[in-house]
Amino acid sequence: MQKKEIMLVGAGLAGCLLAIYLARRGFSVKLFEKRPDMRSHDIPAGRSINLSLSARGIHALSEVGLDSKIKPDLIAMSGRMLHRISGQLQYQPYGKNQGDVHYSVSRSVLNRLLLDTAEASGKVSLFFNEQCTDLNLANNCTKFRNTIDGNTRSVGFDALIGTDGAGSAVCRALVHANAIEYRHEPLAHGYKELTIPADANGKHRIEKNALHIWPRGGYMLIALPNTDGSFTVTLFLPHKGPVSFESLLDGQSLLGFFRDQYPDAVPLIPRLTTDFMANQTGGLGTIRCMPWHASGKVMLLGDAAHAVVPFHGQGMNCAFEDCSEFNRCLDRFNDWDELFQALDEKRRRNANAIADMALENYVEMRESVRNPKFHLHKKIEWLIEERHPDRFIARYSMVMFHRIPYAEVQQRGEIQAAILDRLSVDAEQIDDVDIALADKLVEERLDPIEMI
Ligand code: FAD
Repeated sequence: MQKKEIMLVGAGLAGCLLAIYLARRGFSVKLFEKRPDMRSHDIPAGRSINLSLSARGIHALSEVGLDSKIKPDLIAMSGRMLHRISGQLQYQPYGKNQGDVHYSVSRSVLNRLLLDTAEASGKVSLFFNEQCTDLNLANNCTKFRNTIDGNTRSVGFDALIGTDGAGSAVCRALVHANAIEYRHEPLAHGYKELTIPADANGKHRIEKNALHIWPRGGYMLIALPNTDGSFTVTLFLPHKGPVSFESLLDGQSLLGFFRDQYPDAVPLIPRLTTDFMANQTGGLGTIRCMPWHASGKVMLLGDAAHAVVPFHGQGMNCAFEDCSEFNRCLDRFNDWDELFQALDEKRRRNANAIADMALENYVEMRESVRNPKFHLHKKIEWLIEERHPDRFIARYSMVMFHRIPYAEVQQRGEIQAAILDRLSVDAEQIDDVDIALADKLVEERLDPIEMI
């Protein structure tokens, strides 16, 4: 590649990882970030305190040698723990294979590790408190405003990657220049984070190695474990309506709602009212851009190009996969324009597919898991998977525990869903399933999976 210097805007998860990949290839990287350096300032981690890290993200981290470094900070989650209103618990392992786990990780621990690694490369210059405010494609120039002194400055670039997340300033500038199309699909539901603290011995108060879900049809509560013994709890609820953030205006209505819907969670969240009132209600939505690049010199990656709703735990994992693919493209192309086009073609349809599947998974998490048919489908999936491991893998597993391209997962998932519907139409339990028909349908409709 001719232009050996590259500008990145946004030192979040994707920006830092991409900087590391580029530094390892000998590029000089200038990485601009609007927030202070989180390693020396106590600032909020960002959009969620902890995250689910799964196969795609782990693979990217392993490519830059960080999988073993982050390992001590990971907590394995091997299944869902469903909490009924009655207080009854139901544990559902994700799969039959030992490797069918994903991991809870602190966003700030991971971001700090990525920042340290980028800086230690000696090829990445970090500029904090620098907010990108504009971009001029005609003269290859970006504007930054220093968030401490308010001064603005112009910085030129040869090639620029916008990794500045949902609400990206780089994306906004490209839209303004009519260089790309942008669609924001806001979700009518938002989220609020709460905490289950560790017990007096610093231990987890509920099962540590599970993703906890309190599914309630139109809304849900979930909890992911942290290494300090606490859990980060997230309430997903409509913004407006009879049961909504709008309707929970005071401590009394909040407590009434929680006692009614989440009685077993109330004693676990001692700061429920205080935190609920103090913590912001976050917005959620899907962003789709087309294309992701402009004029052969600017590209969007990560949430800046394709924010997705968090219900499959894939936003960061998908962003990391973008970076890994970017790295692979560097082997194939000697020209930014060609590289950006190829990357866009490869990644955009996959990002669109996970955006759709993440929306569908919200319904699965908050509603379908309560339905006996859902559990029968899971059992049939396991049965078929055992008989046809080369052709059939549950869609959830393909997303979380494999690196099969998302678009292929979506396509195979539709065929698999039709097979499950057909097999369960007259079945009440797993013994009622017509195995010969199952074998026939799988062999007829599903080609062997090409494993990556
Ligand atoms: P970000 O992490 O948002 O980083 C963007 C960076 O750019 C930030 O540092 C920001 O300060 C900086 N920036 C912004 N604007 C400017 C500017 N104008 N100038 C300079 N810098 C700027 N994903 C998962 O994989 N697993 C999960 O379990 C998961 N859970 C989630 C839960 C919730 C509630 C939410 C909201 C999201 C979740 N996600 C999850 C998605 C995940 O957070 C994002 O996909 C991921 O953070 C994307 O990384 P990014 O680097 O593209 O953007």
